[in-house]
Amino acid sequence: MSALWGRLVTCGPIGNRPSSPPLIPLLACTILLFSMAVCRAADKLNVISSTQDLASIASEVGGDRITVESIAKGYQDPHFVEPKPSFLLKLRKADLLLVVGLQLEIGWLPPLITQSGNSKIQVSNPGYLDLSQFCEILEIPTTQVTRAMGDVHPLGNPHYWLNPENGRRIAKAIQNKLSEMRPGDSAYFAERNADFDKRLTAAEKRWDAQMAPYRGRKVITYHRSWPNFCERFGMVVVDYVEPKPGIPPTPSHTLEVINTMKRENIKLILVEPYFDLRTPNSIAQATGGMVVVLLPSVGGVKEVTDYLKLFDYDINLLVNAFAKTK
Ligand SMILES: [Zn+2]
Repeated sequence: MSALWGRLVTCGPIGNRPSSPPLIPLLACTILLFSMAVCRAADKLNVISSTQDLASIASEVGGDRITVESIAKGYQDPHFVEPKPSFLLKLRKADLLLVVGLQLEIGWLPPLITQSGNSKIQVSNPGYLDLSQFCEILEIPTTQVTRAMGDVHPLGNPHYWLNPENGRRIAKAIQNKLSEMRPGDSAYFAERNADFDKRLTAAEKRWDAQMAPYRGRKVITYHRSWPNFCERFGMVVVDYVEPKPGIPPTPSHTLEVINTMKRENIKLILVEPYFDLRTPNSIAQATGGMVVVLLPSVGGVKEVTDYLKLFDYDINLLVNAFAKTK
């Protein structure tokens, strides 16, 4: 690189010459700059993630030694992502693929991985990292799952990133994987993760203080996206707008939810941004309750650009809603 740099510096004064610039050195300069950029991009590990939450944590740890991009966007339902040809192109060039696992992406990701033809990221190869194996997983079924139970995730609830402790574990697992792939950068990744950890710990103190007055509050949620989040921040999920996971609302179940909310004085209905608001709104109307569109993922709205901002956003929404519905 230093030889390249020396040659580049000697190219510098060209622009100051009054006469027309000699074409060949200018061209050489352009080619050099271009090849330096390519060289630098090639140095970086190309990380692709299924969701923006994993991309955000990976970028905290990987810094400028990786490029990272998510396939699904945070405003999409991660159970159902419409496959596009551009996803295949991304996967084809990936060094590392990060997935949530526990069958969250089962409806769309496995065929993309196979069709990418990229041997590095095939399941069980070193470039495939399922983060669920490092996290605390809730709602692991104890009996056999049948279709009659709805779309129950048979390996446990995959929405586990919504507890900051699991975010911390995801970061550590990514740090270990990146260090394994780039041992020369392991100190850099360790330092970045330590910094992330520190900021996460400080943020958790803030979130705990904000939520303290509302610990023990009961809520209704649309889908079972929030067990980790609610357990961590002291809320109790009493029922769901969906009669069964992945099954749209039915009039009889909606009536049950309304009765439960009245009986137990529950005021908040937490809804992910990709669900129809008609049923939640009618429940709120019947009970004097309130619908809160809570974000399950980074990128759910434009300003939520990283993992810490996701919790900032959700917790601010919640404390305002709780304060209004005493
Ligand atoms: Zn789910």
